[in-house]
Amino acid sequence: MSSGDGPDDEAVILSPYGDDVEPTESSACPLHESGADPRYLTGQRIERVLASWHIHDAEEPSGPLDIWFVDSTGTYIHVTTGSDWCLIVETAAPFPDYDMAEWGRVVVAPITGETPFANHVGKIVRSVREERELNTGRIALEVMFESGGVRCESWSGELRLASIPHRC
Ligand SMILES: [Zn+2]
Repeated sequence: MSSGDGPDDEAVILSPYGDDVEPTESSACPLHESGADPRYLTGQRIERVLASWHIHDAEEPSGPLDIWFVDSTGTYIHVTTGSDWCLIVETAAPFPDYDMAEWGRVVVAPITGETPFANHVGKIVRSVREERELNTGRIALEVMFESGGVRCESWSGELRLASIPHRC
């Protein structure tokens, strides 16, 4: 884990995403713009979650590199990191598996018990919260369910997922 030059060292603009807080141009990523509005997920049941993994030789798969939520309408919300270290949230279906020649292969599969989302499949999203940085755009997304939640963040350009305990 690297430290010292990650996005966590900079001032973070908190967007609690109340009714009066809208994503603004100044907090959008210059490269990826604002993307999908994740507030869309509020009230949706997450039917499935898929993830992409990098498989190389006999090493443990690394990732997930991408996450896709599938709601009961069949809409895919894709969460991943940009090369500019922002957290991308967009409406996009999973891509097919692909080879990276000597660098291995990237495969897309439904999540298993190893990711923090596994506990929340089939549950309804209660709220969604984002964090944005000026000039970088979104850097974190928190998806809350009744039983707790998951924080997705860009950590020096890598997607990191962490469980959030239930908040009373
Ligand atoms: Zn970006």
